[in-house]
Amino acid sequence: MVSPATDITPSYSSLLTEKKGLFGLSREELLELVVGLKQPPYRARQIFQYMYARGGTSFQQLSSLPLALRKELDQKFYIARAAVVSKEVSSDGTRKWLLQFADGAKAETVYIPEESRGTLCLSSQVGCTLNCRFCHTGTQLFVRNLSASEILQQIAITKDALDDWQTPEKRKISNIVLMGMGEPLYNFEQVAQALTIMTDAEGFCFSRRKITLSTAGVVPNIPLVGTLGVQLAISLHASNDALRDKLVPLNRKYPLDELMQACRAYPRLKNAERITFEYVMLEDINDSPQQAQELVRLIRGIPAKVNLIPFNPWPGAPYRCSSSSRMRAFAAIVQKAGYAAPLRVPRGRDIMAACGQLKTASLRMRKSLQCKVEPPTEKERPTEKDGVAFG
Ligand code: SF4
Repeated sequence: MVSPATDITPSYSSLLTEKKGLFGLSREELLELVVGLKQPPYRARQIFQYMYARGGTSFQQLSSLPLALRKELDQKFYIARAAVVSKEVSSDGTRKWLLQFADGAKAETVYIPEESRGTLCLSSQVGCTLNCRFCHTGTQLFVRNLSASEILQQIAITKDALDDWQTPEKRKISNIVLMGMGEPLYNFEQVAQALTIMTDAEGFCFSRRKITLSTAGVVPNIPLVGTLGVQLAISLHASNDALRDKLVPLNRKYPLDELMQACRAYPRLKNAERITFEYVMLEDINDSPQQAQELVRLIRGIPAKVNLIPFNPWPGAPYRCSSSSRMRAFAAIVQKAGYAAPLRVPRGRDIMAACGQLKTASLRMRKSLQCKVEPPTEKERPTEKDGVAFG
């Protein structure tokens, strides 16, 4: 069911004014701002809590601030919410929002309710540079990175819609996955800032254990995920380079031996954590018993879990989903080797909200407006000096 937006939030109009947006600013940035306004430092904390823990959008209602300060904030600043262009609800309860940001760029966000948890899938970019063959987002031109503010606005809008600005124990969104549109490790700085605010006890207050960042395998940045303390997932999808080069073209830059070395050296494995390997099941492409055995050999020695994802078709997709019997046989081989290998139940297929189905109509912008994403250079690669052993 698609509903056109009737709820473009009032604060969206503020985006078109000269006012400066505060949503997405860190504690330190807010502190600098209130000191500049000749206010005591604790005002920064009040604004931080108001925006990120209480979901406030109007300075007028921040009643713990003096009236004069509320007025000044209102004249100079705003608290952003993207416009909701459309929202869809699947027959299984999954919800998808198409959001539009100040410059017109659009991204999708998906909420998946389950009995014991509610998971929000966030986008980190508009479009994606990586063109994974099975992924609908990969067929969309890359537009730009999302800012920390825009990543957090996806949570805020979902919380608004679900009436979920409550104490952490009662809330509907319990888990966050960065598995929507884009490669989060090609937008690391903004993703890291958003995660810091998401996990701040006086901010969104999500447990780091319940946040998962998924990468297609940007090897040099994998150790950085460890510094954020969130869970790491690798979009693997193939057990050898020849096939992965086709399915996940980034593999040509960072082949499997480099990727597996980065996983084996991943610092947080020492803290009894596991890496999740995602494996989309494609009929007669990557689903044979031999490939299951090859996968087991590939990840041997890595504390891991393998999520088997039935392929979610989209118009013009070059693949079909594996049969149930083939997926079960594949799972059995991985499980026999000692790895958890749950076969995921697709959610939100009828509204194109399932894994790999997200795509918006955002067009490539003029070059001058694009935020160019350069893959990290050789120099940016972590070395043994950084405490990471490669090779
Ligand atoms: S699977 Fe992820 S990294 Fe690959 S094209 Fe899709 S959004 Fe990009």
